[in-house]
Amino acid sequence: MTTIHNLGMPRVGAKRELKYALEAYWRGESTSGTLTEVGIQLRGRHWDDQAGLDLIPVGDFSFYDQVLDMSFTLGNLPERVQRFHGDVLDNYFRVARGRSAQNTEGHASCCGGITAGEMTKWFDTNYHYIVPEFSTATEFKLDASRLLEQLAEAKAQGVKAKPVIIGPVTYLALGKTKDHSNKLTLLPRLLPVYTALLDTLAAQGVEWVQIDEPILVTELDVDWQHAFNTAYHHLKLCKIKLLLATYFGQLKENGYLTANLPVAGLHIDAVNDREDVQALMNLLPPHKVLSLGVVNGRNIWKTDLSAALDWIEPLAERLGDRLWIAPSCSLLHVPVDLNSEQKLDDEIRSWLAFALQKLDELRILGKALREGRDAVKAELIANHAALVTRRTSPRVNNPTVQAAIAKIDARYGQRNSNYADRIKKQSVLLRLPPYPTTTIGSFPQTAEIRHVRSEYKAGRLDGFAYKTAMQAEIARSVREQEALELDVLVHGEAERNDMVEYFGEQLQGYAFSQFGWVQSYGSRCVKPPILFGDISRPKPMTVEWITYAQSLTKKPMKGMLTGPVTILNWSFVREDQPRSVSCRQIALAIRDEVLDLEEAGIRVIQIDEAALREGLPLRRAEWKEYLEWAVESFRIAANGVKDETQIHTHMCYSEFNDIIDSIAAMDADVITIETSRSDMDLLNAFDNFKYPNEIGPGVYDIHSPNIPTQEHIVQLMKKAGERIPAERLWINPDCGLKTRQWAEAIPALSNMVAAAKMLRAG
Ligand code: GLN
Ligand code: ZN
Repeated sequence: MTTIHNLGMPRVGAKRELKYALEAYWRGESTSGTLTEVGIQLRGRHWDDQAGLDLIPVGDFSFYDQVLDMSFTLGNLPERVQRFHGDVLDNYFRVARGRSAQNTEGHASCCGGITAGEMTKWFDTNYHYIVPEFSTATEFKLDASRLLEQLAEAKAQGVKAKPVIIGPVTYLALGKTKDHSNKLTLLPRLLPVYTALLDTLAAQGVEWVQIDEPILVTELDVDWQHAFNTAYHHLKLCKIKLLLATYFGQLKENGYLTANLPVAGLHIDAVNDREDVQALMNLLPPHKVLSLGVVNGRNIWKTDLSAALDWIEPLAERLGDRLWIAPSCSLLHVPVDLNSEQKLDDEIRSWLAFALQKLDELRILGKALREGRDAVKAELIANHAALVTRRTSPRVNNPTVQAAIAKIDARYGQRNSNYADRIKKQSVLLRLPPYPTTTIGSFPQTAEIRHVRSEYKAGRLDGFAYKTAMQAEIARSVREQEALELDVLVHGEAERNDMVEYFGEQLQGYAFSQFGWVQSYGSRCVKPPILFGDISRPKPMTVEWITYAQSLTKKPMKGMLTGPVTILNWSFVREDQPRSVSCRQIALAIRDEVLDLEEAGIRVIQIDEAALREGLPLRRAEWKEYLEWAVESFRIAANGVKDETQIHTHMCYSEFNDIIDSIAAMDADVITIETSRSDMDLLNAFDNFKYPNEIGPGVYDIHSPNIPTQEHIVQLMKKAGERIPAERLWINPDCGLKTRQWAEAIPALSNMVAAAKMLRAG
């Protein structure tokens, strides 16, 4: 009989209960007891939600992050928190975010907390984990208390528990050494702690442990391949069955290594890696379990259940009890419950499955495999009907859009002249001083702005009143910028709640959920818009606001747009067509907006691509293809303008070393990037590659309330000037100012403008 199981559940709760409980605790408004209780309740509820599965994950819940949990389980705490005593949970939050609850940090108010652990993306998802810190001196020491407590809760609830842990090789691979030592030298120290952990779990009567090694879907050099063999030959002595779980991609050349590791079972992402299954089945030793992730754990579409069965049934025949089925990965990356949605229309809703619905799909598949398809006939018919309406819906298929896409040719992405000629024409019109100053787009999103927006959304404020209020905000931004003597102004983005949602809401082919929250990091969740159909732009989206802003000043007003790659990467996207096609559709819509702005007299247009880098595939071998269509999409969006129109783009990172030629290929006239936190060291990328166009290396960190001094900015710009000719440098902050207050933005920008003047004076 086929075993059905799950790899992990979303943990924030259908109504983001965990978020509110965490934030109340951090503000000092509740106790650790209350927070612990919320954790217990959420875990209990999630286990109930998984009733009927043969094995249910335990230990997938986290108060902040599962990698940080693992660091605590392994006793790998950064030295800077080791001097604190008291509640483990408080130390945990200190590593996660620099400080715990306000009332536990008596002296933190004077010393400002400690350095938070570095955060980075969990593979190619939008979830961020806390990077484990290593040095040659790192020692590990088991603390199984968290897992044991949760196991006890699960037992009390009668749950068939399968503890989930991160495997030793992935754990090492995800961490960073500060002293540049080789992380793999720590493996011999780490393995005994894993052995102790597994023995502890075995002593609790645990039969299966899910040990996650998603690093296996990336390219591994010989040392890391060897580490896998070392690790799992060591752990095979434990009296417990290991289900080695990989997800998010294909095993490819790691297939042989993976299939032969001495574990009891292997889980693979059969949504992304179907091709490898046949080969794996042949490689897999005859005693091993093969768990196939057949329900997409990362997207929100219904599974084609009949097609899945067509594929799985023969495998089940061949493997018998050794076949397990599951979601492709933890359901952490999808919202909790489609039934919470009140506003989605019935048709779109019928195409979707959130975490709870995905578990239902799994149950249906399980039943079909055990009792035959007839036992779930009604469910299969309903599933099929929904898929047919989606496939044939005119809301999904728009022939006009498809025709427009088919017409795209090389000229779309090509400016009329090269940068050197364009810039001459642009300078005549823009008449900017050397070291021109600008900002990245947003100005402080005050409580009043948010209030007006939400009143308007709720229908309590009419369109006229809303427009008047937003225009007043725009006028204020323009006034402040003129007083500051900035050179290229922005309208301030008061009307935007989110840089992707704002455009998604105005594009056809997008839907929005009310509770489709997905954890991004800690208590922060995002609600990605749902791209369900061919994308088109019924009418201009920003022109009215931008032209109003331009009417208030003689200085150039920058039109502000989000780029196609970023809109795509921050959405739930279609899986019925390649991402590149969806991206090109968005690009055409943005192109039309760019041309409308130009037509309306806007001479500088910025197209933000904040998420271009994070779309890079897990395997380097696939980077080229992604970068090609991503850059091409940007070029389609941006490059239809006249030579005289200046195109800017912005990226809030600057690890550009490995993609700098693609960035240059976008051919924006000006790019603004983040560099201040690294003291311009990130400009190293520009040593070997001479970036041909203009650059604004961010001169101060907008995430911090600190006010940068004029001297510091001058010094940073001089450093930048060592690599980029002064006539191609702009001066701007790292990113948009929406999270700052005016009282912080004004003095900071004032110092920035003063620094520009000082540099101009030479
Ligand atoms: N224009 C956006 C802003 O200023 C850019 C935000 C971003 O890059 N994340 O808010
Ligand atoms: Zn940014």
